[in-house]
Amino acid sequence: MQLSLVIPLYNEAESLEQLHREICGVAEKNNYNVEIIFIDDGSTDQSWNIIEKISANDSRVRGIQFRRNFGKAAALQAGFKAAQGDFILTLDADLQDDPKEIPDFLRLMETGLDVVSGWKQRRHDPWHKVFPSRVFNGMIGFMTGVKLHDHNCGMKCYRREVLDEIALYGERHRFIPVLAAARGYKVGEKVVAHRARQFGQSKYGFTRFAKGFLDLLTIWFLTRYGQRPQHFLGTIGLTIIALGIVGYCLQVIGLMLGLGITVANIFVACVAGLFSPYFLVPILLGVLFIALGFVAELFVSKTIQADTCYAVRKER
Ligand code: UDP
Ligand code: MG
Repeated sequence: MQLSLVIPLYNEAESLEQLHREICGVAEKNNYNVEIIFIDDGSTDQSWNIIEKISANDSRVRGIQFRRNFGKAAALQAGFKAAQGDFILTLDADLQDDPKEIPDFLRLMETGLDVVSGWKQRRHDPWHKVFPSRVFNGMIGFMTGVKLHDHNCGMKCYRREVLDEIALYGERHRFIPVLAAARGYKVGEKVVAHRARQFGQSKYGFTRFAKGFLDLLTIWFLTRYGQRPQHFLGTIGLTIIALGIVGYCLQVIGLMLGLGITVANIFVACVAGLFSPYFLVPILLGVLFIALGFVAELFVSKTIQADTCYAVRKER
């Protein structure tokens, strides 16, 4: 069994040597066949020099240096592409994740899980990170059904085939367990020790949560309706049209009661109802939603790869 450790980093020079030492300690104690891949996401400090130094002295260590800062998801994706292990474990480079947790991750994977996500039960971060994060985790669980306590934990372990199926871009790295579960993979979690940041600064501020919420909406839409967008947009469209028809009927009834019920008045009320905003606005809006649904379906029909519509567990 080979284990690949994928470590994205951005300006974490002070932490790298200690992290490497800690990983080596765990690997030696447990006799792991390990490869360590550092991805320098465009650091402007000494990080890359240190990676070169570590890698020159330890053949298990490889490094990838980005030309500029592309973000954590891109760094992870580059690491996943390079990784050759059967199991791939990601951890942050800032020493907040403890390599001593690695054996427990692997034990859990051996119980048949495909993804094990860390859970920083006792977090050593300021409250203004911890509180929004709780709300965010609750929302992800509610909207996607993947109820992990800590989607944002950097320490996660995957079976390699999971990552072969999922393309990371944007800031999707927080949603790999959700995307994996949507493909039928078994996802679990494990409590991990979390340490306070010793060196450098956190790379994420408050805006992470607004962006994270938008990403959550996208992931929710893509995993549910990505292959049938008209079911989503069309349902909204039809609902609005139905409201328009109710609006029309109420308008006609109101007019008739006002004018008095005669054959001529019924005709006038029915025609006038057609021009009322309570009818026209919802009908137009509903038709727009359905038209948007057709455009989305057209896009899907041109880009879909039919064999991604399902996921096979075994064949024989
Ligand atoms: N990171 C990265 N690229 C970025 C931002 C962050 O590779 O653009 C790395 C960072 O160096 C660290 C990990 O992602 O190893 C998590 O970042 P950070 O510790 O700042 O996040 P926090 O722990 O505060 O949530
Ligand atoms: Mg951190």
